[in-house]
Amino acid sequence: MKTKVCTKCEVEKEATNGFFAKQKSGKYGLTSKCKDCKKVYTEMNAEKAASYKRNWYMRNKERMLSEAKEHSGEINEQRRKRRASDHEKYRKIEKEYRDRNPDKKKEKKQKVLQKTQRRTFAQM
Ligand SMILES: [Zn+2]
Repeated sequence: MKTKVCTKCEVEKEATNGFFAKQKSGKYGLTSKCKDCKKVYTEMNAEKAASYKRNWYMRNKERMLSEAKEHSGEINEQRRKRRASDHEKYRKIEKEYRDRNPDKKKEKKQKVLQKTQRRTFAQM
């Protein structure tokens, strides 16, 4: 029976796929660490990866939040600018309309006046 000593736990185990994972480059075509150690290592790594992810999130949370805030500020600024320019545009259109039709207001006033006068005459 071929045996292999795990480089991690240094326990001599049967050199089969039951105790060591397959690895072409390893002795007997198996990994140098036994499956148990590999499992612990993988779990540790998973925990490490998870905590790294958590830490990354914690580290970047502030930054991401502030970036999001900045970005929304940017959007608000754009909206404000657009509203201001729209307001300016409408004012311009109104002014142009008034400039083109300077007598519109006066005409209306006169019509009302005429109506009133007619009524007054009719009453007399
Ligand atoms: Zn081991």
